Amino acid sequence: MTPAEVDQMKENVAKVKERLNRAAAASGRRSEDIRLIAVTKYVDSQVTRNLVESGCHCLGESRPQLLWEKGEKLQDLEVEWHLIGHLQRNKIRRSLLFADTIHSCDSLKLLHAINAIAAETQRRMNCLLQVNISGESAKQGFALSELEAVVVEVQSLSNIQLNGLMGMGSLGGDLDLNRKEFSQLRESLEKLQSHNGGNVNLRELSMGMSSDFEVAIEEGATMVRVGSTLFDGLM
Ligand SMILES: *Cc1c(COP(=O)(O)O)cnc(C)c1O
Repeated sequence: MTPAEVDQMKENVAKVKERLNRAAAASGRRSEDIRLIAVTKYVDSQVTRNLVESGCHCLGESRPQLLWEKGEKLQDLEVEWHLIGHLQRNKIRRSLLFADTIHSCDSLKLLHAINAIAAETQRRMNCLLQVNISGESAKQGFALSELEAVVVEVQSLSNIQLNGLMGMGSLGGDLDLNRKEFSQLRESLEKLQSHNGGNVNLRELSMGMSSDFEVAIEEGATMVRVGSTLFDGLM
C-alpha cells in the first residue's frame, strides 16, 4: 500500500468509529458495549494487515477459505476472527482453528456437526443463530418462529456456547424497514432469554452493515459487521 493509502485507511477507520460512538451516544448506550467487526472479504491479506494496524482487532470473513488464508498469514497479529458467512459441514474442522465466533449458524444439522467437532478438542464454540429477518428467500437463516425450538435443542449440545442472534436487514436502503427488522430481532432475543442457563447465554445481537449500522445500534446491536465503507477510496 502507498503512504496515501495507509493514511486513507486510518481516516476510514476513525470515521467509522466516530459514527459508531455517535450512534451509541444518541441512543444512550456505551460504545464499549458495541463491537466493531471489520469485514475483510473485499481485500487481500496485506490490506487486512494494515486494517489491523489501523486499530481494528475484530475481523469478519464470510468465506471459510478466506478465513483460513488470512488467519494463517496474520498469525503474528492480535486478531479475533468472526465467521459471518455460510459454513458447509466439510469446512467446520479447519474453521474452528481460526474462528472465535460463528455468526452464521443457519441449520440444526450444522449446529450438531459443530458440536461434534468441537467436542473432539473439548472446546465450547461460540455461536450465534442466523435469522432470516428480511424474509428474502435468498437469505440463509432460521425463521423467527423456529428459534425457540432451536434454542431448546442447542441446550443439549454442550460443546456449543450459544450467545445470541445474527441478522441482515433487507438490501435496498429502506432504513425504516431495516429498523423494523432489527427491532424484531431484539424482541426475539429478549423473549428467548428465559432459556438462558448452562451453554445458552443469549445477549449478543449481530446486526447492521455499512449502510444501516447506526440504525442497528439504535435498535440494540452489540456487534456491527462493517465492510465496504472501511475501504472507501481503497478498492
Ligand atoms: C459483506 C458482509 C457484511 C458487510 O457488508 P458491507 O455492506 O460491506 O458493510 C456484513 N455481514 C455479512 C454477512 C456480509 O457478508
